[in-house]
Amino acid sequence: METIEKKQGSIGVTTENIFPVIKKFLYSDHEIFLRELVSNAVDATQKIKTLSSFGEFKGELGDLKVTVTIDKEAGTLTVSDHGIGMTAADVDKYINQIAFSGAEEFLNKYKDTANGIIGHFGLGFYSAFMVSKKVEIRTLSYQEGAQAVRWECDGSPVYTLEPCDKTTRGTDIVLYIDDESKEFLDQARIDTLLRKYCRFLPVPVETDGKVINSTEPTWTKKPADLTDEDYLNFYRELYPGQDDPLFWIHLNVDYPFTLTGILYFPKIHNNFELTKNRIQLYSNQVFVTDSVEGVVPEFMMLLQGVIDSPDIPLNVSRSYLQSDSAVKKISGYITKKVSQRLEEIFKADRKDFEAKWDDIKIFIEYGMLTDDKFREAAMKFCLLKDTEGNYYTIDEYQKLIEGTQTDAQKNVVFLYTTDPTAQYSFINEATSRGYNVLVMDGQLDNHFVGMLESKIEGSRFVRVDSDIIDNLISKGDKKASDLSGASLEMMSAIFKSQIPALENANFLVQLESMAETSQPVTVTVNEYMRRMKEMAAMQPGMNFYGQMPDSYSLVVNTAHPLVAKIKAEAEKAIGSDVEKDFANLGEAESKLNQVNSEVKDHKPTDEQQQQIGAQQDAMAAARKEITDKSAGFASGEPLVRQLIDLALLSAGLLRGRELSDFVNRSVSLLK
Ligand code: ADP
Repeated sequence: METIEKKQGSIGVTTENIFPVIKKFLYSDHEIFLRELVSNAVDATQKIKTLSSFGEFKGELGDLKVTVTIDKEAGTLTVSDHGIGMTAADVDKYINQIAFSGAEEFLNKYKDTANGIIGHFGLGFYSAFMVSKKVEIRTLSYQEGAQAVRWECDGSPVYTLEPCDKTTRGTDIVLYIDDESKEFLDQARIDTLLRKYCRFLPVPVETDGKVINSTEPTWTKKPADLTDEDYLNFYRELYPGQDDPLFWIHLNVDYPFTLTGILYFPKIHNNFELTKNRIQLYSNQVFVTDSVEGVVPEFMMLLQGVIDSPDIPLNVSRSYLQSDSAVKKISGYITKKVSQRLEEIFKADRKDFEAKWDDIKIFIEYGMLTDDKFREAAMKFCLLKDTEGNYYTIDEYQKLIEGTQTDAQKNVVFLYTTDPTAQYSFINEATSRGYNVLVMDGQLDNHFVGMLESKIEGSRFVRVDSDIIDNLISKGDKKASDLSGASLEMMSAIFKSQIPALENANFLVQLESMAETSQPVTVTVNEYMRRMKEMAAMQPGMNFYGQMPDSYSLVVNTAHPLVAKIKAEAEKAIGSDVEKDFANLGEAESKLNQVNSEVKDHKPTDEQQQQIGAQQDAMAAARKEITDKSAGFASGEPLVRQLIDLALLSAGLLRGRELSDFVNRSVSLLK
C-alpha cells in the first residue's frame, strides 16, 4: 500500500508565477477550461476501458459517465470521472512538474491566442485557474492498493498534497469559482458550454441529471453502415431548421494522417447564410472551433459539417496552423476527396447532378476560382447551362458550338446572358441564327467567365447584348456599311442628336448594314467596360472603373426600311447643304494635313501656326454645320427619337420622364 505524508511544494514552473499569466492572457477564452477538464475526464475513462480490455485492469468498470455538478452554496463546479485516477506519484509527475522552459518567449509569441499556450504546454488542467480562486483534486488510482489523494492549490505556485478518504476510483476536480467568474455557477451557462464543446464526446457526460452528448456521432461510423437518412438526421441535428443538404461527402483516412468527418453541401438561399453555419472542427470528438480558416481549403468554407482529426495541431495560433505542413496536406487531401466524390456523383447519376447543379454551382465555381487543383479536377464535371435548360460539360459544350460559333479569327465564341429576361431579344437574335447561349446569372459568374476564357484555349466569351450578332461572331463576310462620306456623317449626327441625356451613361452611334429583318436600332453594352465595372464593384481599390459611366452603343441598322426612309427624307431636306459642309470639312482637313506635313518635326513658323489654327477652326465650323442641320432635321422627325426610345426601352434604359414622353409621343403618332 502506498503511504504518503502530507507535503507542500512548489509547482515546477520556471516563470515566477504562471497563474497571473494564465489569467491575463487567457482571459478572453476562459470558457475553454470546461472543455479541457471534461476531455481529461473522458481520456481517463477511455484509458480505464482500454486497460480493462487488455486485461490489465481486472476490477469492475462500473458506471463510466462523467458528471459536471454545480454547488451554488459552496461556490464550486466539480468535474468527476470514474477513469484511471492518479496516484500521489502521478499527481507529482503530471500536475506538479509542468515543463515550462522557454515559457516567456513562447507566451510572447502566442499571446494572441489562449489556445496556443494551453495546448502547447499541456496546460489543459491549469486552465481551471482562469476561473477559480482555488482548485482541488481528489483522486483514487485504479492501481491495486492505491491511496486516495487530495491536491489543492490557491493560484500561487504553492500546492498541498495529502492523503484523503475518497473510496471510488477516479477523479473529482473541484473548482472554487472566483468572483469574476460566477457565470460558471449558472446551470444554463454550463449546459450551453457542454453542448458546444462536449456534444459528441465518446463517454456520456451528465449535468443536472441529464446526459448532454451523443457518444457515437455519425462521422465515427463506417459509411457502409449508414443510410441517407442517417446522414440527413445528423445534418438536422447539427443545423436545425435548415433545408436538407444537397449531398454530402464522408471523409475517412488513416494514412498519412487520421481524419474523419462529413462535409455537406447546403442549400443556400442568400449570401448571409454563407457565413453562418460553418464547418466544425473536432479533435477526437472534442469540439475545438468553427473557424476553420487555414485547415480546409478556402472555398470549402462554404460547406458545412464536421472534420475530426487528432493530427491537426488544434491548440496553436492560426498563423502557426496555416504554415503547418500536416495541415497543408490535410487541406490538399480534402480538396482531392471532394472533387473525386463530386465526379463520382456526376458519373453515377448525371440527371440528379444536373437537377442540383443550380444550387451547387456556387461552391464549384468558387472552388474553381480559388483553388488550382480543384479547378483542374472540376473541369471534368463543371456544367454549363444554356437558355433552353440543357446542361453540358465544358468539353461537350465546346464540341457543340465549335462548328457554328467559330469566328474568322478561329476563336470559339461562347455567347452568354446574365439575364435571360432582360436580354431576351438578343438571345432570340442569336438562337434564330442557330447559335447557343449560356446562362451565366450566378453571383460569381462574371469572375467565372473570365476564368474560363483564360483556361479554355482559343475561346472568347461575349455577353449576347455586347454587340450586334454579326460582330459578336464575325465570320469575315460582313457587308460593308452602305453609307459613306456626307450621308454617314449626317445619319450619325441625326441619331446622335436625339439620344436623351441619361444619367451615368455614354452612347456611341454605330451604323451597321444588318439584315432588313433585324431591329432598326439596338442598344448594346460594351463588353470590356462592363466587365471592368463589374469586377470593380466586387473589389476594393478599383474605384476608377466603378465610377466610369456605362458605355453603350446605339447601333443603327441602315438596311432597315425605316432607317432608309429617314435617310431619304433627310437627303431631300438637308442633303445638298450637308454635302457642301462635308466638302468644306474635307478641304480644311487636307489643307491642315498639307501644313502639318510641311512642319514635320520642326517648330512651326508663326504663319504655319496661324494656318493650322485657321483650318482647325474651319473643320470645327463645318462639323458644327452638319451637326446643327442634322439636329434641326431630326427634331422635326419624331420617327428618329421614336426608334431610339424603342431601343432604349428594350434595353431597360427608358425610365421616368423619358418613358412618359415616349408613351405620349407614341399615342400621338397613332392618331
Ligand atoms: P494534457 O491533458 O494535455 O496531457 P493536462 O494538464 O490537462 O495536460 O493534464 C496533465 C495530465 O494529468 C494528463 O496527461 C493526465 O495524465 C493527468 N490528468 C489530468 N486530469 C486527469 C483525470 N481526470 N484523471 C486522470 N488523470 C488526469
